[in-house]
Amino acid sequence: MRIVLLGAPGSGKGTQAKKLVEKYGIPQISTGDLLREAVAARTPLGMRAKEAMEAGQLVTDEIVLGIIRERLSAPDAGKGFILDGFPRNIPQAEALDQMLTGLGMPVQAAILIDVDFDVLMQRLTGRRTCASCGAVYNIFTHPPQLDERCDKCGGELRHRADDREETIANRLRGYTAQTAPLTEYFRRQEKLFTVDGVSDVEDVFDAIDSIVAAVEQEPAPVVEAKPKPEAKPEPKPAGRAPSAGMEPGE
Ligand code: AMP
Repeated sequence: MRIVLLGAPGSGKGTQAKKLVEKYGIPQISTGDLLREAVAARTPLGMRAKEAMEAGQLVTDEIVLGIIRERLSAPDAGKGFILDGFPRNIPQAEALDQMLTGLGMPVQAAILIDVDFDVLMQRLTGRRTCASCGAVYNIFTHPPQLDERCDKCGGELRHRADDREETIANRLRGYTAQTAPLTEYFRRQEKLFTVDGVSDVEDVFDAIDSIVAAVEQEPAPVVEAKPKPEAKPEPKPAGRAPSAGMEPGE
């Protein structure tokens, strides 16, 4: 399974990606997480990314494409992946297409998790993440039992530096300007599916999962450009299977 999760910051991409990882055992590749790790480890790349991240701006395509290229070439990505937070703009999407088409494993579906901006603001200002196990809470909608401690592992809960109000406004503006056009990009490729991200986490997951099940049934892409003379022509890919009331391009 090779999917891209699309959606504004706070739309629940990370949460849904983790659930897909649990169910299908393929890696979640989050450029935000990879960049935060690089910043925490004070790598040269992390140092270059830090300022833009703290201002709620996008890191340069050059940095992000470098880390994504490296991550996609790791052995575990060969059996599939869930891209979370990447691509973020059209040049990144085009670069990704080139990378994956060259490897004979193009993206199968881009799933947009759709959430109103008011809901996003509340989710982001209240978001707290466990520094040890990565569990996500919200002080308004899903508070931990003990203040600032993770229910699962007792780890310290952190408020991400870029989840402060003025930074959030920047991130949402950036999303509208640069990331939203991506929906059009994937719609043209007939790979876009939309789910309502305001419902319960489990309902959102069921909707995503039925899309995944439908695209998984499609035939694998034919990698060879020309069939060998003795080979029979490959059967034509069947039409896209329907999925829980969700249509591509919806
Ligand atoms: P996220 O956790 O996906 O919200 O990402 C946090 C921050 O990392 C973003 O606000 C950007 O500064 C940076 N970032 C993550 N992914 C990308 C990307 N694909 N392109 C550029 N910057 C990114």
